[in-house]
Amino acid sequence: MNTELIKITDPEAQESKLTRAAHVLRAGGLVAFPTETVYGLGGNATDDSAAKKIYAAKGRPSDNPLIIHIADPADAANYAYVNGTYLALAKAFMPGPLTVVLPKKDCIPASVTGGLDTVAVRCPSHPVARKLIALCGFPIAAPSANRSGKPSPTTASHVHEDMDGRIGLILDGGECEIGLESTIVKIDADGGLTLLRPGAVTYDALCMISDKVRVADAVTRQLAENERPLSPGMKYRHYAPTAPLVLLSGKAERVLAFLQNEQATRRCAILCYTEDAEHLEKTDLFPIGGREDLPTQAKQLFDALRRADHTDAEIIYAPMPPKDGLGLALYNRMIRAAAHTVKEIL
Ligand code: AMP
Ligand code: MG
Repeated sequence: MNTELIKITDPEAQESKLTRAAHVLRAGGLVAFPTETVYGLGGNATDDSAAKKIYAAKGRPSDNPLIIHIADPADAANYAYVNGTYLALAKAFMPGPLTVVLPKKDCIPASVTGGLDTVAVRCPSHPVARKLIALCGFPIAAPSANRSGKPSPTTASHVHEDMDGRIGLILDGGECEIGLESTIVKIDADGGLTLLRPGAVTYDALCMISDKVRVADAVTRQLAENERPLSPGMKYRHYAPTAPLVLLSGKAERVLAFLQNEQATRRCAILCYTEDAEHLEKTDLFPIGGREDLPTQAKQLFDALRRADHTDAEIIYAPMPPKDGLGLALYNRMIRAAAHTVKEIL
């Protein structure tokens, strides 16, 4: 299959290109498209065979459910049973990087939800994504547009790297603004929320909507073999770099000294804060943003991991992020990529 790349800089002026993409989706094909979080690999969410094509193109296990993307928060009621808590979340955070798990209606095939009777719903804020969904008139099921086991794509060239020859069309909307996948919450029977995956809508932000916000175990802790996560994707190791990734925890100056010594003695790739970059050798060094600049770190992380994986380094080091605010989302992605390997530097 030939994979076409189309650049979209102005979705209104380039409506005819998005109309073509909507035709591909209506005909049961797949289109990768930008969102504010990461690039999605889209198919018609009401079409069982489109969902199957998504799993095949990604090489994704079919019990790992897809998120359906809608053009307007109110459209959720067409595909799922909504309640007052959903409406409050929608008012506060949609369109934006929040996904809500709701009981599904029959029009959403079981293949989309990995056999679950719930469906994950999100209304993205990215103008290309919104326009594309609106032109379709049906929701778009879209997991991240990476091959299973690779970091989520934050640029069209990441998508191309993973999906060339596997899908017909990639819409290039530039670099994703946030760079980490959406926050996922489940609404509990008691009106509380369970955070299934942390993202740019933070724990503290969710606490403004509900006074009962729980954090699912799998967010911060490695589950045992026999434990079932509330969110099926959490049982999969999201990303496995060829070289092992090790997170470094400890005082900034001690960590820097450790890295300098490692660079002198072995081939290592390093994800570092910009403040530390000038004190380290430039080879296989990937600055991800200032120490306190979590939004930039979020935006750069997956690109830096992909780059580090393209080196011949025998080990990859990255700093241990904080666990509060946006840090929890960084922590969750990094600890899983590192298979929970943390080295304490004393
Ligand atoms: P991705 O689309 O690659 O960002 O992954 C979507 C993730 O959303 C999956 O890995 C699941 O963990 C989660 N998810 C989707 N649907 C549900 C659902 N119905 N219940 C719980 N988690 C879900
Ligand atoms: Mg994904």
